[in-house]
Amino acid sequence: MTVTDPRMETQVGWKVTLDQDVCQGYACCVMAVPSVFDLDDGTGKAIVINPEPDASLRSAVEGAARGCPVHAIKVEAR
Ligand code: SF4
Repeated sequence: MTVTDPRMETQVGWKVTLDQDVCQGYACCVMAVPSVFDLDDGTGKAIVINPEPDASLRSAVEGAARGCPVHAIKVEAR
């Protein structure tokens, strides 16, 4: 039997990265999770303003990653 301890999930960190070379600046991620993503006024591309968000945002960030039309967003263990 596998037991999942929610405390372990917070101890195993995660991070958000974004490849600006492929981002097209559609801003879907910014609208989805504005506390994690923003648009760079200079480049018009998205930036990660909170690369290690609280666990409560993980589902929203993963949704933004899935919704990115060019797959520029990655959610990885750190
Ligand atoms: S959803 Fe993807 S393409 Fe759109 S701004 Fe975010 S990273 Fe860029």
